[in-house]
Amino acid sequence: MQKQEMIRITCNDRLGKSVQVKCRPGDTIGDLKKLIAAQTGTDSSKIILKKWYTTYKDALTLEDFKMRIFPIKIFEHNYSYLILDEKANEAAVVDPAEPQKVLAVLAQTGAKLTSILTTHHHHRHSSGNVELISDRPNLAVYGHDARIPELNYVCKHNEEFTVGTLRVRALHTPSHTKGSVCYYVRNINARNEEVERAVFTGDTLMTGGCGKFIEGESKDMYNVLYNILGQLPKDTKIYCGHESTLKNLRFANAIDPNNSRISEKLEWAQTVNSTVPTTIGEELEYNPYLRLSEPSIQNLTGNSNPYEAMHILRVLNDNFDSNSNELNNINELFGINYGMNNVNVINIVNGISNLVM
Ligand SMILES: [Zn+2]
Repeated sequence: MQKQEMIRITCNDRLGKSVQVKCRPGDTIGDLKKLIAAQTGTDSSKIILKKWYTTYKDALTLEDFKMRIFPIKIFEHNYSYLILDEKANEAAVVDPAEPQKVLAVLAQTGAKLTSILTTHHHHRHSSGNVELISDRPNLAVYGHDARIPELNYVCKHNEEFTVGTLRVRALHTPSHTKGSVCYYVRNINARNEEVERAVFTGDTLMTGGCGKFIEGESKDMYNVLYNILGQLPKDTKIYCGHESTLKNLRFANAIDPNNSRISEKLEWAQTVNSTVPTTIGEELEYNPYLRLSEPSIQNLTGNSNPYEAMHILRVLNDNFDSNSNELNNINELFGINYGMNNVNVINIVNGISNLVM
């Protein structure tokens, strides 16, 4: 029988308790967490091990190390994220526009922060870089737009870099802004297999919708959603930049009322505080911007040209009143019946679009 060793682990459960657990060499992180959970009465999935790395890493199995992602709500409905590589005890932050909130979560993990991943230059995503860099000048600041404060690494499309042992691929996804980047992050096991995948999409792909095409056209967003993000494995978790799911799904429901996946998701979204993450596979089932070739969407836009259909969807969305859930006002606005006359629809929509965007 293996010798039991008494080891001391500082564990950050919700109470910040420090506990002593008995474990054997070779026990997994999961085993340790179960022991701590039993002792503290905490849900084992909520336990973060702190200060264990240098002492115990050799005793643990590589497969047990996770990529942990902490959504952090900032401002009214924005998200920052802390990405933690348990293997290296190293972390990156995505869009830390309220740095103190992110640093408070980082402190709980005991991990070393090495990188800022900035999705785009908009103030509520990038402004916190200034404070964070004045405090920690050695951080790598990734992005693809000179308007991002403290940017010190301009990543090219499909460029790979690492955070600890996590692999990160920068996906240049222009449309919401010219310099928008989504970060595709994977955890790799000892056999070099991807075991967890996540993509941080900023204001490009959102749960149930997408961002406005502020510095791009509908064909740019089409390219991003169909040729880049839509090509990621279906189990990739999506962490977007805003909690705008209810608004997005109300619009989706109004234009695709027979899609039961939308109504189910909408019902669920009304019962939770946060709707992140979803997955690429899920979004393909209900996000209208990823479903342009579906008959229900084509009936609405009356258009088989995907760029034009994307444009019509965006203008309808921008004019949609999610309080009344009515699309009728759009029809009144355009004075036409959608799906009846493609050419006129496009012309009218373009005219309206210039006024409202
Ligand atoms: Zn934005």
